[in-house]
Amino acid sequence: MLFVIATPIGHLGDISSRALEALSSSDAILCEDTRRSAILLDRYGIKKKLVSYHQFKERQLLEQILAQLEGGATLALISDAGTPCINDPGLILIQACIERSLPFTPIPGPCSVIQALVLSGFATERFQFIGFLPRKPKEMLRQVLCYPGTTVAFESPQRLMDTLEAVDEIDPKRQVAVAREMTKTFEECRRGTPKELMAHFKEHPPKGEIVLSFALGKIPEDKMPLDELIEMLQELHGLSLKEAIKQAARLQGVPKSSVYKQVHSRHETF
Ligand code: SAM
Repeated sequence: MLFVIATPIGHLGDISSRALEALSSSDAILCEDTRRSAILLDRYGIKKKLVSYHQFKERQLLEQILAQLEGGATLALISDAGTPCINDPGLILIQACIERSLPFTPIPGPCSVIQALVLSGFATERFQFIGFLPRKPKEMLRQVLCYPGTTVAFESPQRLMDTLEAVDEIDPKRQVAVAREMTKTFEECRRGTPKELMAHFKEHPPKGEIVLSFALGKIPEDKMPLDELIEMLQELHGLSLKEAIKQAARLQGVPKSSVYKQVHSRHETF
């Protein structure tokens, strides 16, 4: 049996009793940084064999781990913080377990993505998580600012100001939430326009771990022509044509009927 266990993203108290039971009942614990995981396990008096399992070892150790599971061992997989597989090792092992019909179960718990989304106060009915933010402004526009819902992404403190500046150039009114050091002593969530946030972080240089959330905003037509926007909403974000037209109208701040008319008249000219 493989337990895929979420562990705290800061506050060591954020671990479920089921997670602790699973860790205690495992023959060995696969983890990224053994020293870091030892701190959590020591806190709960769990003494188990720790096996270093970071992204560069995922494939190398796979057969060995699968053989142990096939032999009836109970193993636990944890990452340095949060939920394994979310920008952390785990997926390769889970896919191999599915392929070989080996039992595994995730034990839910902290995840910085969901924590930041809730902390942001932005709409939650449609959201995407995209890992670390793209560096190119064009990709930032396509992947993040044109997304018809809330976007959650990881960011480093060193890049935060550049990112805010890039957003400011495209959509200065966009609401952004910077969640920092969540669940830790200096947890902070600042919400505001890119300019407001830049002014704050200029005075208080950001430190620690950061997750950014971007609320829905507006994309003027000079930044993204209507045709391109509709096509992208369909291809990149998987919307139907009808939904893409509705979202494009909202993103460009124009009535839906006028977007329908434009699309229709363009099709008629073919
Ligand atoms: N698997 C993890 C999870 O479920 O949260 C994410 C791992 S990813 C490699 C590490 C990134 O998560 C950091 O760069 C940071 O953006 C974010 N992160 C993790 N813990 C955080 C915290 N306490 N506060 C803010 N961001 C955090």
